[in-house]
Amino acid sequence: MMELKITCIPGDGIGPEIVAEAKKVLNKVAEKYGHSMNFTDILMGGASIDACGVPLTEEAVAVAKAADAVLMGSIGGNTTTSPWYKLPPNLRPEAGLLKIRKELNLFANLRPAVLYDELAAACPLKEEISKAGFDMMIMRELTGGLYFGERRTVEENGVRKAIDTLTYDENEIRRIAIKGFDIAMKRRKKVTSVDKANVLDSSRLWRAVVEEVAKDYPEVTLEHMLVDNCAMQLVKDPAQFDVILTENMFGDILSDEASMVTGSIGMLASASLNDTKFGLYEPSGGSAPDIAGKGIANPIATILSAAMMLRYSFDLDREADAVEAAVKQVLAEGYRTIDIMPQKGETVTEEITQVGTARMGDLIAERI
Ligand code: NAD
Repeated sequence: MMELKITCIPGDGIGPEIVAEAKKVLNKVAEKYGHSMNFTDILMGGASIDACGVPLTEEAVAVAKAADAVLMGSIGGNTTTSPWYKLPPNLRPEAGLLKIRKELNLFANLRPAVLYDELAAACPLKEEISKAGFDMMIMRELTGGLYFGERRTVEENGVRKAIDTLTYDENEIRRIAIKGFDIAMKRRKKVTSVDKANVLDSSRLWRAVVEEVAKDYPEVTLEHMLVDNCAMQLVKDPAQFDVILTENMFGDILSDEASMVTGSIGMLASASLNDTKFGLYEPSGGSAPDIAGKGIANPIATILSAAMMLRYSFDLDREADAVEAAVKQVLAEGYRTIDIMPQKGETVTEEITQVGTARMGDLIAERI
């Protein structure tokens, strides 16, 4: 029996709708497995701007810090029509997200890319490749590297020149490598560390430190792969990957590539972790203002993010397995939200039933 304190950030757009379904599923987990889950909501993004004038208040940050984990929907509105985007950049919805990531020291970003048999037709890869299936986890360093290095633009002899710097120290590499190996231990025990060690010093240090960390994980198989090769392998043979461990910019690009090969945005979970068990869990998609309030958004990415929370923040692997199995079961029974309905011309073997957000949440909760 665990007592879990969870801060929820429903956010904007479809956020409140999809978070409600994840809570429903977590409550069912608590009931079935005898845990107590205590939810506290905080405002962030547009909802906080409307209520408090800023995208995230200090009080809200304090509530998040006092929790065991944070479950988020999504924030932001229509970036061309919403008045939130007339505000200066530091007061816009996204500033809340940047602030909470910084305040909570979330340096490790986790994005699973899983191909579900029932949704294989949405996978843009050739059938001979997709039929092997895939289930990988991209672990991206989130607070260092090129995006945070010193940068400037100068003019030399009438020629404009821009300089960006890519820096990593061994401590930054070690802490993310440890996270990567820890996560591999909960999976198929393989880490593919991705770098550009044939060119970059930062990658050579990355490789050396990852090798050092690997010594503490004798059960995990480590391989190194150059980033250009990895970009190819993701579309050629994605089944080979378990955990992909990589730096910020490479991870930015590769995680988008990996999520596209699944073909279903409403199914993509994610997590950002710090060096304790604390994490912020959220779907990879945005607030989908085009479908907000219609009750048709797919809650599965948020529900799978909640499963990640159970697994990685609370070590409740059995409970996480139960949530993931329930998701697979509803898909196998033919239930779909509108975004994952079969496309015209697609052959389907099972009978398909289109359902809305709340019904999908109910169906998953019932199968826990
Ligand atoms: P989006 O991901 O919100 O939407 C892209 C498309 O995917 C839309 O057609 C949408 O309807 C669909 N979609 C997304 N999630 C879905 C779901 N769960 N079920 C069914 N369909 C889904 O991206 P966007 O339109 O570029 O951005 C909208 C807003 O979200 C912007 O303000 C953006 O800044 C914000 N955003 C927030 C986050 C976050 O909170 N972490 C991430 C990305 C974008």
